[in-house]
Amino acid sequence: MKENLNELLENPNDIKRTTNKREKTSWVWRYFDIEICNSEQFAICNLEIMGINILCKKEYKTGGSTKNCIEHLTNTHELFSEQNNISQTKKITKKHNESRQLELHQFLVDFILDTAQLLRIVERISFYKLIYELDPKFNMPDSKSVKAMIHIAYNYTFKVLTNLLELITSVSLTLDL
Ligand SMILES: [Zn+2]
Repeated sequence: MKENLNELLENPNDIKRTTNKREKTSWVWRYFDIEICNSEQFAICNLEIMGINILCKKEYKTGGSTKNCIEHLTNTHELFSEQNNISQTKKITKKHNESRQLELHQFLVDFILDTAQLLRIVERISFYKLIYELDPKFNMPDSKSVKAMIHIAYNYTFKVLTNLLELITSVSLTLDL
């Protein structure tokens, strides 16, 4: 009874959280919030997707098992077990130095311009995941920064385009003759 009371005091808004003691002590609960819906327990991932301020919010119905949650942390967030978390987190957050980031951002801007992408592509989770899988050290800029980069790149691109157009014009003139 005393124990129950303590639990209630700890989680006054979440009485049902006391159902499974073993589950609560699992390391995964540091990264999952628990919600009760229609007396079923759901685990909701509270991790941020790396580099963008969007919460993952992946939901799992937890029937007393943390298997799905562990798999999710491993596959999506590269978190493994408690012992490995510190080194894993370090590995994830270590980004390229500034000059390398700038260099890579230029490639991103070139890609966006070349394929006429919406700037918001940098905020799309699927795009983020693709880049993250290819290079976890890449720091994804937000669309506002990309806009600024394109503004700078445009002057350069415009010169290149002008040269290209001159070339095309002279080629077609030659053909016309
Ligand atoms: Zn997640």
